[in-house]
Amino acid sequence: MSNLYIHYPFCKQACHYCNFHFSTTKEGREDMFKLIKNELHLRSKELTDPIESIYFGGGSPSLISPENIYSFIDLIKNKFKIKQNIEVTLEVNPDDVTEEYLLNLKNAGINRLSIGIQSFFEKDLIIMNRAHDVNQAHKSLELAGKFFQNFSIDLIYGMPYSSLANWKNNLEIALSYNPPHISAYALTVEEKTVLHHKVKEKKIDLLDDDYVKQQYDILLKTLEKEGYINYEFSNFGKQNYFSINNQNYWIGKPYIGLGPSAHSYDGKYLRTWNVSNNHNYAKSIMSGVLDLKIEKLSTKDLYNEYLMTALRTLEGVSLAHIKKSFGKRYTLYLEDQVKRHLKYRNLFWDGDYLKVAKKAKFLTDGIAADLFLV
Ligand code: SF4
Repeated sequence: MSNLYIHYPFCKQACHYCNFHFSTTKEGREDMFKLIKNELHLRSKELTDPIESIYFGGGSPSLISPENIYSFIDLIKNKFKIKQNIEVTLEVNPDDVTEEYLLNLKNAGINRLSIGIQSFFEKDLIIMNRAHDVNQAHKSLELAGKFFQNFSIDLIYGMPYSSLANWKNNLEIALSYNPPHISAYALTVEEKTVLHHKVKEKKIDLLDDDYVKQQYDILLKTLEKEGYINYEFSNFGKQNYFSINNQNYWIGKPYIGLGPSAHSYDGKYLRTWNVSNNHNYAKSIMSGVLDLKIEKLSTKDLYNEYLMTALRTLEGVSLAHIKKSFGKRYTLYLEDQVKRHLKYRNLFWDGDYLKVAKKAKFLTDGIAADLFLV
């Protein structure tokens, strides 16, 4: 099985925390979609396995017309093998949502929406420089529930000046729309973003880590109480609503990323990615030769990446998998490295699986880094 990711590199305006590859220019948007389709043709030989999920991300793929989305999905269905219950997700910004748009998306073959709400507070949206306002956030969810059974709300916690009560309130409002899936990410300050600049200039104060941890604990507690399963550090789903795209990514299944900056992985050891420049991407596609960067992952890289992703998941790290895929040296190393965390009950064994204790969940990435082979 393989997965297809499409990176549409345009946005209406730049969110101040975002370091993804995108452009706010209005030029070339239509052409870009044609180029992405051409890339699909150029790489068709790589798509031999049935496709299990298609994910339109970006950027802002809700700027793509439903006609283009339809023609793309149609092309895939006609040209490639696909799994019967294929998941087809589109990331949607609330300001792009209208009744007509959602209906057309549904007819085009989209069966899952990931809606970038981020917050139900105007103050947060202004700090983030999101293109939508609170009214649009509400409206988009009312309509999403009307047309889609499967949709996810994206939220951001750890917002500057946000209180625990604010965050709890954000979750309660999200829950009032009964979403089958919620993703919640801590605000991170990425280099070269406006947020980074403002923090450096002391124009914005960040929350301290302990306060962000308290918000994460509220997230775990609130969503668990409502029947959501925390199947990955930042992802919560009702039974049968876990994202296929995300899960396949975490368990290391192959995926093909189309569009500028999109990454691909062969499921073994090769990672490639397209040039992060729209103009150079267009040039390469038109010449018929992809402008790809290639990274060959070493056994050590694969081991560290497996630990990082698996420890964040509900399933945890499988010792049998470590033994089979990495051998004795790595198994002994892991068993030695975990001792301290087992002693402090940050980690525990559940049969063959190493898992993070609830009290230490917020520290998952740091614990994983402790277990890395360096
Ligand atoms: S809409 Fe998404 S991709 Fe675009 S700038 Fe905002 S966060 Fe980044």
